[in-house]
Amino acid sequence: MRSPIALAIHGGAGVLKPGRLSEADENEIHAWLYRAISAGHRILETGGASLDAVEACVIQLEECPWFNAGYGAVFTQDGGHELDAAIMGGSDRNAGAIAGARHARQPIHAARQVMEYSEHVMLGGSGADAFLKSRGLQPVDNDFFDTPLRRQQWEEHRHSNGAMALEPTHAEGHKFGTVGAVALDSHGHVAAATSTGGITNKRYGRIGDTPLIGAGTWADDRSAAISATGHGEYFIRAAVAHDIAARMQYGGVDLQTACDAVVHGELKAIGGDGGVIAIAPNGDTCLTFNTPGMYRAWRDEAGTLHTAIYADDDRRHA
Ligand code: ASP
Repeated sequence: MRSPIALAIHGGAGVLKPGRLSEADENEIHAWLYRAISAGHRILETGGASLDAVEACVIQLEECPWFNAGYGAVFTQDGGHELDAAIMGGSDRNAGAIAGARHARQPIHAARQVMEYSEHVMLGGSGADAFLKSRGLQPVDNDFFDTPLRRQQWEEHRHSNGAMALEPTHAEGHKFGTVGAVALDSHGHVAAATSTGGITNKRYGRIGDTPLIGAGTWADDRSAAISATGHGEYFIRAAVAHDIAARMQYGGVDLQTACDAVVHGELKAIGGDGGVIAIAPNGDTCLTFNTPGMYRAWRDEAGTLHTAIYADDDRRHA
């Protein structure tokens, strides 16, 4: 029997409130979200694998300068970009990740290469870049990832907070911008993928939750696929993605209950802002965040695709 399909993506959570973005910018973001979810949806609808669907969605989001992943990644303290990404399949819990890579054109594809073609789960820094080169992936210069918007944000940030300070994540207009996707395919397998440039002005070598299996990314057919966005240090300390899965697997709770308990309970209790998208093998789909908004898109049970930015936002795409 074919199982139902399900798909959700995010482009980061944050202090996103109506009125800050122009209507034209909002429309552009909705269009990017729709394009990204459509790429994965086509794969799922034609019987393709959830791993391929989440990778396809994230590749699209990595190309979009609005999001903090791939092209459009934030600047580090020393004015460069260090990219983190992870992908995981729920059927066998195989996983691949890169952390602190500087030359991977498509970070999520790089993570998939680590998963498929190395004997390791995670490769970091120059080792990740060297492995990708050995796989025939054309490296790009680090300034390939520069965008005028991120440079301006970085410069403004250093001007008002000091050259060594991290972004104050509660500030009005602050958004995380990491991208991710979760999917359930018609074979009953879930998968998750997440990709990020991290946090503006992060210290050289800082690694967040995104590439850490069990913190920012997790997939297991016995529970759920989860992709997170938010202040990574807190997500690591709360083992967010695995905690959601464990509550389902050991505690027998449903996906929404598990997501609410972790995002609004555990995470909030230690001061962590952000959200998750999650899909269970029965098709349940959750998009849960403790910030005012989260760039996101999802497929409903009838197969309609939706995009949203703010809390009670919902734009249907026929
Ligand atoms: N979680 C990411 C990190 O801490 C940031 C984000 O979600 O935008 O690296």
